[in-house]
Parts: sequence; structure tokens; C-alpha cells
Amino acid sequence: MNKATIGANISKVLNRIEHACSTYGRDVNSVSLIAVSKTKPAHLIEYAAECGLQHFGENYLQEAVQKISELPRENKTWHFIGPIQSNKTRPIAHYFDWVHSVDRLKIATRISEQRPPDLPPINLCLQINVSLEDSKAGVTLEQVRELALAVQTLPNIRLRGLMALPKPTETVSEQRQSFALVRQCLQDLQRDIPELDTLSMGMSQDLEAAIAEGATMLRVGTDLFGARDRS
Ligand SMILES: *Cc1c(COP(=O)(O)O)cnc(C)c1O
Repeated sequence: MNKATIGANISKVLNRIEHACSTYGRDVNSVSLIAVSKTKPAHLIEYAAECGLQHFGENYLQEAVQKISELPRENKTWHFIGPIQSNKTRPIAHYFDWVHSVDRLKIATRISEQRPPDLPPINLCLQINVSLEDSKAGVTLEQVRELALAVQTLPNIRLRGLMALPKPTETVSEQRQSFALVRQCLQDLQRDIPELDTLSMGMSQDLEAAIAEGATMLRVGTDLFGARDRS
């Protein structure tokens, strides 16, 4: 993968986003693109940044910390989107601007306690297990309100909204059904917490459906950086 290919991939994805926004009546400025760079080398991230991307998403902490430390920090916003073990919260609190994959109060509490005092509060989304898959992280739609109200009181956290990773489905209408549940859930939560403004949903395969249902942050890996050897 070279810089020209990355640039071409970024243009294609941005065109899809613009097209979906115009189809579904969304303001293109209300949707951010997070480039999911897990398993990809640091120089490809720098290429993408040179092509104008600002947001980068990582799943594996050790790998992420390595890349974040090695790359220039300016003009990059780092998002942690992977599974979180409770003994691995410190690097998240230290290195990331956002964390999207929190589904337990214990994790949020540790991140808040471990956030360095010289950094602003970390932006946080609660991960919803929308397809109710046993294998997947995430809080259920029924449990999310209680968790959100508790997380919202933590001092070094800015609760922003919800993240979802629905089970892959074939058609746009099936994809939209899952995303619509998350959108409705955010609307319900906004009655208690009006500051919530983020729906992190939509990947390479389903970003159009996510835009249709109000996504504000898309997490796209494969269609920017190519297929991965491991997930
Ligand atoms: C890998 C990953 C993505 C990107 O998926 P693609 O299908 O490669 O676009 C998005 N979100 C999460 C949580 C991921 O783990």
C-alpha cells in the first residue's frame, strides 16, 4: 500500500459519505471519519494524515501505544475502539482522546481515576450490544441508561454517546434496523443527558446505513487501508 493508493481509497470513502449524506438529508459536516488503523504500520497512518484525515482508531493497546508514541501528535485525534480489560485502562487514559468501547462502570471509573491531570477529560462512548451476541462486548439497550447516569458523574470523563458494532447483515434495510435501535436509544438518553451528541456506528460494509440512521462517527478500516491479516 502506497500513498497514492491510500489517497485514492480516502477519496472513494469520502465520496460514499457525501453521497449517503445527500441521499439521506444529512449535513456532511455532521459525520466524522475515523480511520481504523489496527494491524497497519505507522507510516500508513502518516500517509492518511498527510491526505487530510485527522481521526484514527486502534484496537490493540500495545500496538497502539507504540504507533502513537512514534508518530507526530499534532493534527491527530486517537480513538480506542477495542475490547478493554480492567488491568489495561491506564494506557487508554494516558494516550487516547476518545474511548468508544466501554461497557462497565468499573472500566470507566478506572479510566477517570487514571486520566492524567494535565489532559482534558477523555471523551467516552458506551458500547451497545445491539445484536445480543454472546461473543460481543457491550451493554444491552435495557441496561445502558443506568450505566450512562453513573458514568456521567465521573470527573475526568466526558460522556458523548453510544457505539455499536452490529452483526453483519446483507441488506441496507437489515443494517438500518440495528442502527435505528441505537439511534432511538441515544434519543431516549438525551432526555436525561442532553449533552450527548455522538453515535459511533458504521464500518466499511455498512456506512451508508449508519449515515441513514444518524451516525456522527464512522469507523472505517478495510476500505481505507486494505484487508487485514488478522481482525
Ligand atoms: C476493525 C474495526 C472497524 C473497522 O472495520 P472495517 O470493516 O475494516 O471497516 C470498526 N470498528 C471496530 C470496533 C473494529 O474493531
